[in-house]
Amino acid sequence: CGIFGYVGTESAGPIVYRGLETLEYRGYDSAGIALREDDADALSVAKRAGEVSALSVPDESASTCAIGHTRWSTHGPPTDANAHPHTDCADSVAVVHNGIVENHEELAEELADHTFTSETDTEVIPHLLEAAFDGNPSEEVIDENLNEESLGESASRADGGIATDGVSSRVATELRRGVESVTDRLEGSYAVAAVHTGADCIVATRQESPLVVGHGEDASYLASDVPALVEHTREVTYLEDGDVAVLQAGEITIYRDGAQVEPARSTIDWDA
Ligand code: GLU
Repeated sequence: CGIFGYVGTESAGPIVYRGLETLEYRGYDSAGIALREDDADALSVAKRAGEVSALSVPDESASTCAIGHTRWSTHGPPTDANAHPHTDCADSVAVVHNGIVENHEELAEELADHTFTSETDTEVIPHLLEAAFDGNPSEEVIDENLNEESLGESASRADGGIATDGVSSRVATELRRGVESVTDRLEGSYAVAAVHTGADCIVATRQESPLVVGHGEDASYLASDVPALVEHTREVTYLEDGDVAVLQAGEITIYRDGAQVEPARSTIDWDA
């Protein structure tokens, strides 16, 4: 029912936790957070049925990139296991989702070798992403990133490349491509955000479910709704249906039909 995300230079857990509190007015039955640990190749996930205040955010993990969710269950009762984020079998990708994946049963049939741990329609998404990653890295993704790396940071930024270190940049591109190809297959409505152990970014997209990104100086934000953003930034971009946003610290890149587009920024001048 509500999504919040942060990637920046500060500790992400408390910021995302606070973001979920500001989304509480939307109503929900469960809450959860996935932190991407900065120095370990791992995700920390805390999730449970009930109030946001019942969540304890793992504070020992140093993380500057995290996504959170408040759930209004449509498929599967409100239990700890059904709370979002949901992960793949390898715990390398975590996903939060608002909306309904209408064709989840059909998609789950393709994933017979994956172990599902919830009764949600959402859980097909991380497993499909895992399957997409298994098919990668594609030569094309590697070529694209090698070009960007050899162009150097400023050139690749001007070119719209994801300018971080080489491996992270490659995984970020793969995650973005994975989200594009997986959401192409989803029927229904969704706002989706995903993080991967290998890249310091959040990839998000939407279809008939609201999602807005917030532009900060050293940080980027993601929320279902503007009121959750205004205590951080009033510079926002409303994602359009099908847009895929890649959020990095202080930089947001938006793709439409696979091509980069300039974010259509607006300034919130009303009291949210
Ligand atoms: N359909 C998903 C579920 O039941 C997402 C519900 C929501 O939008 O919170 O877990």
